[in-house]
Amino acid sequence: MAAHQEKKSSEERKRKNTQSGTGASQVQWGRAWEVDWFSLANIIFLLMFAPLIVYYFIMSCDQYECSLIDPLIDLVTGNKHLSDIWNKTPALTYKAAGIYTLWVTFQVFLYQFLPDFCHKFLPGYVGGVQEGAVTPAGVVNKYEINGLQAWIITHVLWFANAYYFHWFSPTIIFDNWIPLLWCANILGYAVSTFAMIKSYFFPTNAKDCKFTGNFFYDYMMGIEFNPRIGKWFDFKLFFNGRPGIVAWTLINLSYAAKQQELYGQVTNSMILVNVLQGIYVLDFFWNEAWYLKTIDICHDHFGWYLGWGDCVWLPYLYTLQGLYLVYHPVQLCTASTIGILMLGLIGYYIFRMTNHQKDLFRRTNGNCKTWGKKTEYIECSYMSVDGTKYYSKLMTSGFWGWARHFNYTGDLMGSLAYCLTCGFEHILPYFYIVYMTILLTHRCIRDEHRCFSKYGKDWKRYTAAVPYRLIPGIF
Ligand code: NDP
Repeated sequence: MAAHQEKKSSEERKRKNTQSGTGASQVQWGRAWEVDWFSLANIIFLLMFAPLIVYYFIMSCDQYECSLIDPLIDLVTGNKHLSDIWNKTPALTYKAAGIYTLWVTFQVFLYQFLPDFCHKFLPGYVGGVQEGAVTPAGVVNKYEINGLQAWIITHVLWFANAYYFHWFSPTIIFDNWIPLLWCANILGYAVSTFAMIKSYFFPTNAKDCKFTGNFFYDYMMGIEFNPRIGKWFDFKLFFNGRPGIVAWTLINLSYAAKQQELYGQVTNSMILVNVLQGIYVLDFFWNEAWYLKTIDICHDHFGWYLGWGDCVWLPYLYTLQGLYLVYHPVQLCTASTIGILMLGLIGYYIFRMTNHQKDLFRRTNGNCKTWGKKTEYIECSYMSVDGTKYYSKLMTSGFWGWARHFNYTGDLMGSLAYCLTCGFEHILPYFYIVYMTILLTHRCIRDEHRCFSKYGKDWKRYTAAVPYRLIPGIF
């Protein structure tokens, strides 16, 4: 990982624009400019229903012990009216507003005012100031990578409180889960709306803005590419990592504490969820510099999809297994525990190794070995908005020779493992694997569409060399 610190210039060689040689035919390769009716219909559907979906899942646990069917039966049979369900839903409280404000303020403080010191003593960890990828306008942003430090400090304080200070109960998150949902929504909508207004009046980089002319599309998918306040407060990096992902492990710990309080013990399924998702979260922060090169940061603009998604969708729906296990404490047999653990760990291994292989390949500009052999690749080129031509490479060795998105396959195996910890009594905990399958399949298609616009016929040569997306021989 040390070589991570090499400059981006070693990954992609920029040369003078000559219009000759293997050419990318497209000048634009960022987000779509034109909005088709299907995308628009999906966007309006999500804007209207995504908040309701989150509410429905959380309410089902609160009022129906995590049954997704029972509320519907009650409503259809007239046993209950919508108003009955709504009236039973906890409202926003001053306490929740206080907790949430303190939480977000603390994360802003850790992000903005505490330069990374972990990279100074943790061998192999890449933190501190790092560069992102070249944006469509040809800009290379700098980021202060200090997520691991923020995660460690937050969790040390959490455990210090739980075992020593006792300022608040470790079940605090579970106990205020629905009032906190309203706070998360307020922040999610506020930041998305602010990002939209900002893009019109004071964008960070006007050349990287995209106005499609469609209000709903622009609000959902974002206009600004890398909105910032000041030099360092980057919206994408902050909102995705914290409060979203730092919170993920804390939320699971709060669920475990609730099980302990209710049943006098923490089940092995709850421990598995905490461990497997904990590995995923820690991996994210250990590799935060690598994350700068992923689609979220490299290609997505910042709108409601990321803003609201990071504040509400991620913390509430990615943690459904732990929530379910509070209501249904599942004690797994040894064989199931080992089987699920193995599935989760193998999935994680594939996810990490596939990402690592591409990362090493890009950092060394293809001068590396994969599985002991010289890495094979396809040469390609593309152009940024200003017409500058860049050269890049697409690897065809290792997991990248098996399928074009084998990292997603590993991710899906891990996701399935989380769900299996909950047994088969209810479908609610399986929402995550269904959602991830849709998300990652859609991401494959979205990414490939973008790569085709970017690399043109070079991308076609690549897909001919690696014909499958997720599962070799099948899809
Ligand atoms: P990738 O890391 O697969 O990045 C895709 C990009 O990599 C492409 O746009 C292209 O970019 C480049 N690329 C594609 N093929 C090759 C190749 N053969 N050789 C070299 N470069 C190539 O995707 P993501 O950023 O979406 O995902 C990163 C990880 O994050 C994944 O493991 C995914 O599972 C995970 N993830 C998890 C989510 C969650 O909610 N839990 C959500 C999304 C992702 P370029 O323009 O540079 O060529």
